Amino acid sequence: NSETTYDYIVVGGGTSGLVVANRLSELEKVNVLVIEAGGSVYNNPNVTDTAGYGNAFGTDIDWAYETVKQEWGGGIKQTVRAGKALGGTSTINGMVYLRAQTSQIDAWEKIGNDGWNWKNLFPYYRKGEQFQVPTDYAFLEGSGVAYDPAYHGYDGPLKVGWTSTQLNDGLAQVVNTTYQNMSVPVPYNRDPNGGQMVGYSVYPKTVNSELNIREDAARAYYYPYQNRTNLHVWLNSNVNKLIWKNGTDATAEGVEVAFSNGTTAVVKASREVILAAGALKSPLLLELSGVGNPDILSKHGIETKINLPTVGENLQDQMNNGLAYDSKTNYTGAASYVAYPSAEELFTNATSIGAQLLRKLPAYAAQVASANGNVTRAADIERFFKVQWDLIFKSHIPVAEILLEPSGFTYDSEYWGSVPFSRGNIHISSADPTAPATIDPKYFMLDFDFHAQVESARFIRELFKTEPFADMAGAETSPGLSTVSANANDEGWSSFLKSNFRSNFHPITTAGMMPKEIGGVVDTSLKVYGTSNVRVVDASVIPFQVCGHLQSTIYAVAERAADIIKAEI
Ligand code: FAD
Repeated sequence: NSETTYDYIVVGGGTSGLVVANRLSELEKVNVLVIEAGGSVYNNPNVTDTAGYGNAFGTDIDWAYETVKQEWGGGIKQTVRAGKALGGTSTINGMVYLRAQTSQIDAWEKIGNDGWNWKNLFPYYRKGEQFQVPTDYAFLEGSGVAYDPAYHGYDGPLKVGWTSTQLNDGLAQVVNTTYQNMSVPVPYNRDPNGGQMVGYSVYPKTVNSELNIREDAARAYYYPYQNRTNLHVWLNSNVNKLIWKNGTDATAEGVEVAFSNGTTAVVKASREVILAAGALKSPLLLELSGVGNPDILSKHGIETKINLPTVGENLQDQMNNGLAYDSKTNYTGAASYVAYPSAEELFTNATSIGAQLLRKLPAYAAQVASANGNVTRAADIERFFKVQWDLIFKSHIPVAEILLEPSGFTYDSEYWGSVPFSRGNIHISSADPTAPATIDPKYFMLDFDFHAQVESARFIRELFKTEPFADMAGAETSPGLSTVSANANDEGWSSFLKSNFRSNFHPITTAGMMPKEIGGVVDTSLKVYGTSNVRVVDASVIPFQVCGHLQSTIYAVAERAADIIKAEI
């Protein structure tokens, strides 16, 4: 049926793509085709098992993208995971459902994205959500589970809540008391999903609480609607590139698809092509279609259709490290304890760190621009950095995320600086759509990013030394005091952090929503500059890192994107 023309072609049936496809196909007169490279994982236990985080890694549903050797990140290549399945990365992620700080979304508007602010996005977080109210009060009391009813949506497709396996032994309360006893207390935050994230919370997940299985984009936005005759999904089909209509204006006629049997075909879209292939694929599809930096395109024999040099630039991710401790208790349940310290709570001397950082911003911006071939301009980067500085030191957003995961006789504490300043890029390495890309997030390029990572480790060490929690934990097993001494300076942490970090799997901004003059790839209607009918709706468009995890914000952005597209029908 590749002869058929569809109104909309959505490239990538992942987290964002299925939201947009679902909402567009609410209109009976609109025909939507989703083209997804992966298959169905409806019955894949590596997906459904709520305790199975990591089981899908390295299997055929993991793209396992590889970066180039990280010059400032220990000289090693990193694997950046992403889901290859109907449901995309939501089928393999950690299911954490945490949004953003209000001021972080407002920052999108501050750099010129009119209408993209917290007030407008908050209704879309709720629209997508089907919050499952925990009803078992015994479970509530011992688990620390709490929420503010006003922050949640109840009628959306995406189930959000806690599982019955949530630990119910009072540990959450012990951890809370411990945070209050820290040298700079971390306040209790009853519900971090209302836009104020600083503090300690017991966070919810994308989970079907009743059945105790993962809730992903396909389970929420596709399977219950699969009988819609105007919603079509092709699985195991790779989009190679866009096909343009003849003429000077860049109007996509459709896409070229490669099927698993080795054949290819062109499928036509009468209205639009919507890219939702993820932050590490959508920019490549633009380049393969002649949208990007002419220097890069010509190197691979691709004719430039639209000169848009910042395609693939501004790539941002976070660095994930972990500390581990022995536990005196044997834990078997699930836990979801998060602390979001602000700069004042994380840094020993926030005021002087802030002042130093402010002075460094011009040099940082110049370094980022130059490390990326001055495709992004230092002056623009400096403006983004000042916005980010204001968020940290004026709006007091969280500067780190500290997770605590009890498991067996162990406490693991994963953590990352929330808003690294380093920016890298991703580009095609060949005109062959199956060739791996050149991915360079430039982890740890800037010393503030490294310092935030060190201070997070010190913060965790303090947590484990603070009563009453200190009583329940044993020795630090990773890195251990013999590897990194108790009073280690930043340099003393360097080798451990840089040889053990991983990508936090939160790549963004590779087709950033910004005014074109400051490096944007899409406008506020998520349309690619210079095209009449191509949009990007996935993580690529998010202009700044958020303090929560990405999926809730991606679902919300996609919900809003669908309304923007529908309003133009
Ligand atoms: P995706 O969901 O990745 O969708 C892209 C889709 O496009 C995929 O299905 C892919 O197969 C398909 N595709 C790609 N190329 C093509 C092509 N050429 N043709 C056709 N189809 C194509 N976020 C959280 O909020 N909480 C968490 O706990 C969390 N944990 C994470 C853990 C891991 C291991 C990872 C990798 C990410 C995690 N994230 C988490 C991040 C979050 O899940 C992702 O940012 C989000 O799902 C990305 O959504 P997306 O729509 O941008 O892309």
